[in-house]
Amino acid sequence: MADNGKIALVTGGARGIGLEICRELLAAGMTVVVADIQEKLFDQTRQALGKADLDCRKLDVTDSVAFTALVDAVVEQYGRLDVLVNNAGITRDGLLLRMDDGDWDLVLRVNLYSAFYGTRAASKHMVRQKSGSIINMASYSGIEGNRGQANYSASKAGMIGLTKTTAKELAGKNIRCNAVAPGFIATEMTAVLPQQAKDIALSLIPLKTMGQPQDVARAVRFLACDDSAYITGQVLSVDGGMHT
Ligand code: NDP
Repeated sequence: MADNGKIALVTGGARGIGLEICRELLAAGMTVVVADIQEKLFDQTRQALGKADLDCRKLDVTDSVAFTALVDAVVEQYGRLDVLVNNAGITRDGLLLRMDDGDWDLVLRVNLYSAFYGTRAASKHMVRQKSGSIINMASYSGIEGNRGQANYSASKAGMIGLTKTTAKELAGKNIRCNAVAPGFIATEMTAVLPQQAKDIALSLIPLKTMGQPQDVARAVRFLACDDSAYITGQVLSVDGGMHT
């Protein structure tokens, strides 16, 4: 089927990189459903995308039952699900020796467990359709590790393993699964970092500038669309050349 008319679900789509992913998928002609914990942002999201009727649904991606129910409801309403973008993610940074169990658990649950819940729920329908594309939002930190991000980098490395296994298990059903690994992108997640941390990050980027959410969103659009029909199990870095 052509990309026009596909149904896409984007977690963490209310702002930041997720919002730009929604913009790109809408531009590709898809119907987009936003799932985010930040219900209060939904009006702003609709305004930013110039789409007053954008379908936004409240979801805490750590809730396996709710995530499955939401995926089922989307399929019930639209008849199918073609694209799932597991984008919702958080950081709770701190050095390993001082990291408490709560910050470890929360980051793993929001970033990694959620991707499993969503992938399992969506692929049940995609198997029936015999088509689908799942995109997981990994990170440079998941490939290389990063001081102060034991929880975050473990979650993102886990997502890469999940991506590759999903790709292998579901390729026979024409379901693709890829990851995007952004580097240092200008969003609210990075805006809160101290200037010193930003300077260090910038000094590591060969292209010498932070990425924009749109840079990541364009890569997701490519992987969501039929242009990438023969690509699965890959991790596409969008990081200004940090990981080569
Ligand atoms: P933002 O914090 O700007 O946006 C993420 C959105 O996801 C927010 O609306 C956030 O809400 C929501 N969210 C958080 N927890 C949950 C949850 N439990 N259920 C549903 N939604 C939730 O992040 P970015 O746009 O910067 O990041 C998007 C993705 O890209 C993340 O996976 C991140 O790890 C990844 N990434 C980002 C990089 C960057 O430099 N910005 C670099 C590498 C990867 P809330 O405000 O409550 O947190």
